[in-house]
Parts: sequence; structure tokens; C-alpha cells
Amino acid sequence: MGQAREVVVEALRDLLGKKGVRIQEDDFLPDVIVKPESTEQVSKVLRICNDAGQAVVPIGGRTGLVNGLWQTDGEIGLSLERMNAVEEIDSVNRTMTVQAGCILQVALEAAEDENLLLPLDLGARGSATVGGNVATNAGGNMVIRYGMVRDMILGLEVVLADGTVLSNLNKTLKNNTGYDLKQLFIGAEGTLGVVTRVVFRLRPLPVSQNTALLAVDGFSALEQLLRWMDTHTAGTLSAFEVMWPEFYSYVTRDGSNHRPPLPAGDSFYVLVETRGSDPVADAERFEGVLGEAMEAGLVADAVLTRSQAERNALWEIRDDVLDFFNLGPFIPFDISVTLDRLESFVAMVRSRAEAIDEPICILFGHLGDCNLHVLLGSRRSEAFDPAQIEEIVYGAVEHFGGSVSAEHGVGLAKRSQLHRSRSEAELRVMMSMKHWLDPKNILNPNKIFAATEIAAQ
Ligand code: ZN
Repeated sequence: MGQAREVVVEALRDLLGKKGVRIQEDDFLPDVIVKPESTEQVSKVLRICNDAGQAVVPIGGRTGLVNGLWQTDGEIGLSLERMNAVEEIDSVNRTMTVQAGCILQVALEAAEDENLLLPLDLGARGSATVGGNVATNAGGNMVIRYGMVRDMILGLEVVLADGTVLSNLNKTLKNNTGYDLKQLFIGAEGTLGVVTRVVFRLRPLPVSQNTALLAVDGFSALEQLLRWMDTHTAGTLSAFEVMWPEFYSYVTRDGSNHRPPLPAGDSFYVLVETRGSDPVADAERFEGVLGEAMEAGLVADAVLTRSQAERNALWEIRDDVLDFFNLGPFIPFDISVTLDRLESFVAMVRSRAEAIDEPICILFGHLGDCNLHVLLGSRRSEAFDPAQIEEIVYGAVEHFGGSVSAEHGVGLAKRSQLHRSRSEAELRVMMSMKHWLDPKNILNPNKIFAATEIAAQ
């Protein structure tokens, strides 16, 4: 530890006490983690760090996928794990005020206890924090119905690099009083400010849930099916998750953790779900709509769930992404391309992937959001060439005017790809914003932009 850094850590120990500073050994994450327990303490921590030019990385549940928490230049970690309270659920205004360190699942359950829905659900719910979800503008499995995190936030409290507390715990849906500052910090990955408290808009808790797995022949049927379901389920469609055939056949292969609910061999498998307010009528409508889709030739085969256990079994197939690590090394991509271009995009990736020795090419995604996950690699680890693989996928994304990150953010991992999805002018404005809000570049430096790029502005 450098001398100046030691002085800062000492000052932070004086401020937060022994419990508030942890030293840890880690190859990638910061070795010093500070744990303030109030917004006021966060403000003081940042003021101390800013005065000393000491870089800070805000740390949530460590579930991100773009190396957004990695130490690049002696950063200190700022964890809000002690600021984890659900402060208020306001059932009249249907809002929830929660501290940033709260685990997502705790917030979900607290809303549910009041018969309300926080419409944010993702695989990492048991460890991800609300603050991390806000900082990365998380997506997940209900975006098709409720949008991303950005769409469910009414108010936000943020601490700026110099310790200024920017608090607007607004609870109303309509608030056109000048610039909407909170949007600057949502999805900024902790580079513009540290999120300390959030006001979420809650929704009525759905009481019915209808889930099915569908086999679909061909992209044209798939695309029509999405529109069909969305049009005919009276606004209740809450998931449309698509697995390409390699995904489905591998996850349900002999000896895997899952029994295949439908035989493999079709071109797509779709997990559809509706959530509504009338169990009897919703179930009837769901079956009716699927029946008509089958008659119209949009669905080749279908299995409907009759119990929570059956529903869980379907979602476990969709969520079993870790199983693919048994195939060999790959890079997990998170991209978006508009629906009308998606089939050609996939064809381009597949044909370019033929240049890889024994390729792994697994596709799945949230099709209603035009968000595709691609796992591309090689079964032979000697043939695994990350630069070649990134060029295949990001080159195709650029070709079709897509986004190099849909829901996972930029961090360190996608920094060098940003120019493929954003113009020079956009990047210049973003860097000026960073420079203006954080002139010493102490907040998560080197994420989204390299420190040298900001300095050269
Ligand atoms: Zn996803």
C-alpha cells in the first residue's frame, strides 16, 4: 500500500471504526473494502477520497458479468452492505423506499408481503443488491412487460464524487421539473455517483400465473408467435424466453439435471408466461390463445404446467446456463439486435463461427426485448481465441446496427467495443459528463472509459 493510500485508509478507519474497514486478499477486487452505514458516512468517505485523489469502486452483490468491480489502479472498495434496509413500503402510493445495499430478493419478498410487485427478477436475485441493479440498469425476465430498472424508478439518492448528496426521493410518476437527474446515474455503473437510496414504483401483485414450453418450427413462426401472444393475452404476457435447439438439447440431454418436457429436434423452444389477476379466466384465455396458435401453425408442440413444481422445472431448464461450462471455454455475450434483423444476425454468427475449431455456439435470449445471449467458444481449449470470438460476434452486431451490451453493461470487458454501438459525438458527451461530475476521476475509473481517454478530453 502506498503511503498516501495508507493515510486515506487510516482516516477512513477513524471515520467508520474497525468494523467499517475490511482488508482482504483478492486477485481482482479491491483489497480494502469500506462499509459505511449511512448516506452521511458515504458522503464523508467520498470527500476524504476525493481530497486525496483516491479512487473508489462501489461494490454491490458481485454478480455482474463485465468485470465492473476490478481493481485497476489501487481503488478502495465501497460496499453498502450495512445500508440494506427496506425503509418503507407505501401501499397508498404503491412505492418502496429501499437502501442500496438491500439484497434484491429481500426487496422482492417485502413487496410481496404487502401484496405488491417489484417487477424486477433475475437469476442472481439471492445475492445481487438493489444498488447494483440500479447502477447497471438491470434487465431480467419481466422486461417485456415492465421494462428495465430505469422504467421502475421514481426517486433516487446519489452521492457525488466530492461528497455532495443529491437526494430526490420522489414518489410520483409525473414530475417534469427540469432535467431528470436520476437517469444520469441509472446504468452509469458507479462512474458518476454512488447510489444510496431508491424509490421504486410497485405494481399490483399478479395472482395468476400461466406457464408453458412451446416448440416452434422456423424463425418466421417464432416472430409471429411473439406478436400473437402479446396481442391476445390482454397485456399479461410477462416472459417470452427463447432457447435455440443446441441450448435445449444439451440442457435436457441424457444424464443432465433435467427431464425434457418436449422432445428435442425442433428449431426453437419458447418459455412463455402470463401473469394476471383472475386465475380462472386467465388460465382459460392462455389455453385458448395457445390452441389457436397451434391451429395457425405457429406452435408445433406444447406443454402447459399444472403446478408450481412443474413451472419451476421449466424455468430451471432456461436458467441452467452454468451447465455449458462443461462443454469447454466460451465467452458469454449479451447483445441486442432488432427483431427484423435477428435471423440474419444469427446466420452471420453461425457461418463465421465455422472458422473456429470444434466451435461451441449456444443461443438463447429474451426475444421480446430483442436481447440475445450468445455463448461462443471452442471445445478444444487450445483453439479458444478470445480476440477471434469477439470479432465474430461484435463485428456482426456492428454490421446489423445492434448494441454490444443489452443488460450487462460495459465495465472493463466491453470498453473497447463501445465505439461499435455509439457515435463519436455520443462518446464525447459521455466523457464530458464524467469529467464534469467527477473531475478527479475517482469513481470507478477505467470502467466504461479508460482514464487516459477521459484525461485526453
Ligand atoms: Zn439475460
